[in-house]
Amino acid sequence: MSEVLLDVRHLKKYFPSGDRNRPVKAVDDISFQIFRGETLGVVGESGCGKSTTGRLALNLMQPTEGEIRFEGRRLDVMRGKTMREMRKQMQIIFQDPYASLDPRKTVFQTLAEPFRIHNREMSREEIHREVTRLIGCVGLRPEHIYRYPHEFSGGQRQRVGIARAIALNPKFVVCDEPVSALDVSIQAQVINLLQDIKQEYNLTYMFISHDLRIIKHLCDRVMVMYLGTVVEIGSKEAIYERRRHPYTQALLSAIPNIRQTDTGKRILLTGDIPSPINPPSGCPFHPRCRYCMDVCKREKPALREMEDGTRVACHLELV
Ligand code: SF4
Repeated sequence: MSEVLLDVRHLKKYFPSGDRNRPVKAVDDISFQIFRGETLGVVGESGCGKSTTGRLALNLMQPTEGEIRFEGRRLDVMRGKTMREMRKQMQIIFQDPYASLDPRKTVFQTLAEPFRIHNREMSREEIHREVTRLIGCVGLRPEHIYRYPHEFSGGQRQRVGIARAIALNPKFVVCDEPVSALDVSIQAQVINLLQDIKQEYNLTYMFISHDLRIIKHLCDRVMVMYLGTVVEIGSKEAIYERRRHPYTQALLSAIPNIRQTDTGKRILLTGDIPSPINPPSGCPFHPRCRYCMDVCKREKPALREMEDGTRVACHLELV
């Protein structure tokens, strides 16, 4: 087994709602690990807590409860200078390259900023050299560093976002839907770039996406989230081929090329995702589950480990 890079235990993030006694349970007691060098895919419908989990993993927001360890050190209690130092090792690539770049800054100014903050001893010439090197790494030309974000296409802007994320040689990058705002024709190029960069910089990725085809292409392991909880986590092969949890089955059956249900048909989920302010009793998936039993309405299933290491939160007899 590879070395654990990020270790998350009993993580909760509750946001205030209009009702003081009923917070929005965006993330509700999840535990998982990310191993050095892997890509962990995080999937689920919108509002399931994927992005909040990504931000919590980087200590960009305070958890309500729980612990996050990065290389064995408690991240959730780190503050100030120690956290700033740690921040160099962990970065995020945002979904929307339009919104994540400052329109008033040239690419040079954007990419020089991490060096100015974290490596104050670097001269302007050294920073210029680094920025030019970075922009080449992401497939843009040296003259691009003098342009503003509006002068680029969406794909080029996301390349700048990637360059900014790798500027300080991080170990861990959260990719939060990094291609979903791009044209399909551009998505493959950016995905290939992310793969190349991962190799070159020995990165570990948490890759958040609602696109199960991209997750299948990119990830080593997959974590399926539903209503702020983890319902299944395991190797890509186990998730896509064995798909034990009824929610995983429904998600995967929606994709024509990888649909392989018993009947070969799509499993239609009935009803809306319940509100995270008032989640259902027992199994959070029970109002939409075609296998729901009485026990499912009463008791929340714990994640159980299967023989192949996959962990599944379901009361069904699973092998
Ligand atoms: Fe369905 Fe029950 Fe399993 Fe939940 S615990 S997924 S309701 S069978």
